[in-house]
Amino acid sequence: MKVSCIAFSFFYIILFSVQTQAQECYKFITKDFVLGKFDFETDSCFIKVAPELSNKTIYLQKEVYDAFVKMNTAAKKDGVQFKVISGTRNFFYQKSIWDRKWKTNSNLSPIENAKKILLYSSMPSTSRHHWGTDLDINNLSNSYFESGQGLKEYNWLIAHAHDYGFYQVYTSKNNGRTGYNEEKWHWSYMPLSCQYLEFYNTNITDADISGFEGSELASELHMVSNYVNGISKIAKTQ
Ligand SMILES: [Zn+2]
Repeated sequence: MKVSCIAFSFFYIILFSVQTQAQECYKFITKDFVLGKFDFETDSCFIKVAPELSNKTIYLQKEVYDAFVKMNTAAKKDGVQFKVISGTRNFFYQKSIWDRKWKTNSNLSPIENAKKILLYSSMPSTSRHHWGTDLDINNLSNSYFESGQGLKEYNWLIAHAHDYGFYQVYTSKNNGRTGYNEEKWHWSYMPLSCQYLEFYNTNITDADISGFEGSELASELHMVSNYVNGISKIAKTQ
């Protein structure tokens, strides 16, 4: 059954009785916000992840964090635990990642350089990590999640994460998904992120992606259609 993004979001609001303040954060969707051009450290909709649930200073949207804590509490009962190893990254943080990789691959042509970085890393202004809704869990390697404790963690997430609003967006590319390679560690809180994607698709074009080396390639690479919308089928139907 295809459910609209708004209906989907209200489903989770009712399910978790999300606080009024979190609901107010739905209103603050602007072009600068979805492009990552804001300061999440001073934004009242964001909160720092507790040290025992992260490996460094990480911020998430409060509603996302609350859902993650609930999910982790349930997982612990099944012998599985999660740590957030990356959360919100704004335009400037993503630019520092992009610039470092751009320099590393400077022997390549600009288009090949960009394509290589885009296997796993986003252009600034196209990352779902800008929104405070997406988090990387436990390990940044697919192979970690393919055996032992990592497989147990991944199987738990596949079975239960959607009960808390989280979906793997960068799934296998075998069925025609475009964009980034599979990321078994990257989970998105869809009740909010589906709304941000809707706004993005209505208001942002490749021409809005600018301000860093290689940004002129955004339209040639069809960044919005191939990458921002290169997400799993189930994420697209929300
Ligand atoms: Zn990620």
